Amino acid sequence: MSTQTVFSTSYQSPRSSHQPPMADGSAINSAAQAGEPPVDGDVAQPISPSSAPAPFDNLSTDIVLRSADHVDFHVWRVILREASVFFANMFADAQSGPSDAPLVPMTESARTVEALLRLCYPVPDPEFASIDDLKPVMVAARKYQMDYIMQVLTRHLLVFAENTPLQAYAIALQFDLVDAARTAARLTLRCDDPCPFTEELDAVPATAYYHLLAYRRRCGEVACRAINSFTWLEDGSTLVWFRKSAGMSSCGCSMAEKPRYYVQTEAGVKTPVYATSWFQKHLDCIRAALLARPYGGAVLVDGLCNQIIEDAVSCNTCRWKIHSDTRKFMSGLAVEVDKRVSAIELDIVQCK
Ligand SMILES: [Zn+2]
Repeated sequence: MSTQTVFSTSYQSPRSSHQPPMADGSAINSAAQAGEPPVDGDVAQPISPSSAPAPFDNLSTDIVLRSADHVDFHVWRVILREASVFFANMFADAQSGPSDAPLVPMTESARTVEALLRLCYPVPDPEFASIDDLKPVMVAARKYQMDYIMQVLTRHLLVFAENTPLQAYAIALQFDLVDAARTAARLTLRCDDPCPFTEELDAVPATAYYHLLAYRRRCGEVACRAINSFTWLEDGSTLVWFRKSAGMSSCGCSMAEKPRYYVQTEAGVKTPVYATSWFQKHLDCIRAALLARPYGGAVLVDGLCNQIIEDAVSCNTCRWKIHSDTRKFMSGLAVEVDKRVSAIELDIVQCK
């Protein structure tokens, strides 16, 4: 089957001021509007188009999408119509054209077009090597009004957010993905302050970064409040470092004179206690860790409990419970910190 083009078969750069006339009067329009630059960079202009890989090499299909770098994707309109409001409108507006498959020049590279089409077709999703690979496809999905595809791409974005949360946060804001922006912002708490710079910040208002810093500060504050009182911990009064009075404990460990903490007894009653000096020192380490990275995992890192263990094992009484009590306390603290931090809301800025 020959391919009937709606434009001249000689490729016109999207930056060219000359828009070629439609060959058949069809209302099918170019996805590459005059003057609209390619979304993912300048591409070379090969002399003749090449064919896309399967399943986009099926010549019996009813439309051809030609990428900006001259790769032809043979696709079914019905699939594009279902996936894309943009294409559905384009086809609805089209006058009856020739029987041959019309050609739609695209401003995107073949790589981006293929990723987009793989998300539309019943084939395995494309693989994205990095968040930089993903973004042009998100741009295209938004441009072609592919809402469901955008949801799929958002899930990919959040996978990358695990390693590059600040970049994911800035990208989510650019696409008005509020929930994804909140999730990515939460993941930035795992980074040391500040997160590594990303150029994506250029595309969002300074207010967005200000909100993120304010969010981090509030999360640090609520996280640290978890070690001001221990009523969140079941049977807290049984922990080896707590005593009922501030005087010298019977084991010989020195006691911190203040502050007085509240814990739960085994019966669940709130009661005041005092802590050993070495536990008080441990709390200082925890506070510093939470201010640096206000999330539960920050108190589970190797080494944070080295000092308290070393201090406690020098006491013949406390040494027997220090390991189990420390494990219980730190795991409970991590859960409590995450619970408190999850209640903190990030202010979202709209990107225009
Ligand atoms: Zn002791």
